[in-house]
Formats: sequence, C-alpha cells, structure tokens
Amino acid sequence: MKLLRHGAPGAERPGVQLPDGTQVDASGFGGDWDEAFFGGDGLERLRRWLAGEGARAPRLAAGTRLGPAIARPSKLVCIGLNYRDHARETGAALPKEPIIFLKASSAVAGPHDDLVLPRGGDKTDWEAELAVVIGARAKYVSVDGALAHVAGFVLHNDYSERGFQKERGGQWTKGKSADGFAPLGPFVATLDELPSFAAARVWLEVNGVMAQDSSTAEMIFDVPTLVSYVSQFMTLLPGDVLSTGTPAGVGMGHDPPRYLRPGDVVRYGIEGLGEARQRIVAAASI
Ligand code: ZN
Repeated sequence: MKLLRHGAPGAERPGVQLPDGTQVDASGFGGDWDEAFFGGDGLERLRRWLAGEGARAPRLAAGTRLGPAIARPSKLVCIGLNYRDHARETGAALPKEPIIFLKASSAVAGPHDDLVLPRGGDKTDWEAELAVVIGARAKYVSVDGALAHVAGFVLHNDYSERGFQKERGGQWTKGKSADGFAPLGPFVATLDELPSFAAARVWLEVNGVMAQDSSTAEMIFDVPTLVSYVSQFMTLLPGDVLSTGTPAGVGMGHDPPRYLRPGDVVRYGIEGLGEARQRIVAAASI
C-alpha cells in the first residue's frame, strides 16, 4: 500500500494511492498514519477497509496539497556519511560505525511545499534520502530481525544549513532542523511495495540540472544494519523515521560549493517512492 496525507498544513487527512495511481481520501477509515496506526494492526485494518471501500472512497481533487506522508513522528534519526560516493566527495574517511544525529520533528513538511530558507543562513543544501518508517517498536533488535520492525519507506530530503551545521559548533542537529527541512513523501510505500530498496536509484536535480544520481547499493551500512544499530542506543517507536544518508552530489561537494537561493527548484526521487519538488523562497523578514 501507498499511504499519503492531504489537506492544509496542520489539518491533514489520511489518504491512499491506489495501485492505478489514483489518490483517494481515507478519512472514512478512521485514524491517521501515526504511532497508534503503525504500532497496532493499522496496516491490516487499512488493507481490509480498502478492499471494501477503496473503490468508493472520494478521489482527491487535482491540485490538492500533499502533507507529510506520516503524522509527526516522535523523532527523526538520520545517518551521516553512509554512501561511499558521498564520503569520498566530502573527503571524510569511511566511518567504522554509523554516524547518527537527530533532526527536529517540527521540520517535517509536505513533499511539494516551498522551502523557506532559514534566517541567518546562506548555505542551505540538499540531500535526497531513502527514509525508513518504523512499524514495530525496536529496542535491541538483531540485524536478522530488523526488517520485521520496518513498516515501509518514504522519500526524504534531509535539507541542511551547512553554516549552522559546520561553522557554529556542535551538533549537526542545529543545521538540520529548520521548519521545512524534512519533506516526507509523496507517500509511504509499505515494505512489500519496495522489494528493491537495497538497489534503488536515488536522484536529485536543481533547476533541471542533475546533481545527485546514485543508488542505495552505494550504502556503507544497509537498512537492517542501521535499524539494529540505532536500536542499541534508543527505542525506535512505530511511525519514527530513520533516514539512511545521502549519496554524492550535494551542494557542499560542488567546486565551488553551490548552495540554494530563492527561486531555485529542487526535484528528486527514488525508484518506487515517487518524486517530490520544492521551490526555494527567501526567509520572511519580520
Ligand atoms: Zn542526510
């Protein structure tokens, strides 16, 4: 199944993208794509509801805004330097253990929302990423058992203000957490929808020029390893997001560096997870 959310910011309603691509409202299902949904039998109940009601569910009107594909998670955990090609471009040694950092959950946004540049930053950068959505509570899980704790995957852009991240003292979280820095969507694909997640194309273009074009096969630590690893340090709750790092081609890796400016358009996708697009706009002056 492909889960989405639609409507005005802060008032999103659940929806589903049917196998033929039609997007329908799932308000009649009763419930949102949140911790209770993923942690209980939500996916199974939704499957049954769709079998009975899917064909009758209201279609989304053209131009309907898509919200973040899941309700605000308890946390977003991100992995740094997890692609061989990205580690090379940053000049960093390959990490011996995964680098993890947190991103504020208030950063989540819809997949096509404008990105407002944060005040005081002029080095905002892009990072197309495969993000894992946790299905079952994960604490001290093994690598072999890790996928049983995964509900599915969602497309993520781990926007990063490099000035805040690298020039203002610890930690990375500071440069990763501005509002809008975590667009999630267009949809969550359940695990069964994306059997190719370990070798899926990841790409991103800025103003129509390809900047990132790689594959999840370039990951240093794979998805089961990451879920297991993070669960040794914190409990991952249903609906939490674990973003698995970005491939080469970020703005910081360009020579000279290429950071985002008002008017730029960022478009990106992962095979099987659809596409997203953000227009970059200036910080509001108040
Ligand atoms: Zn990242």
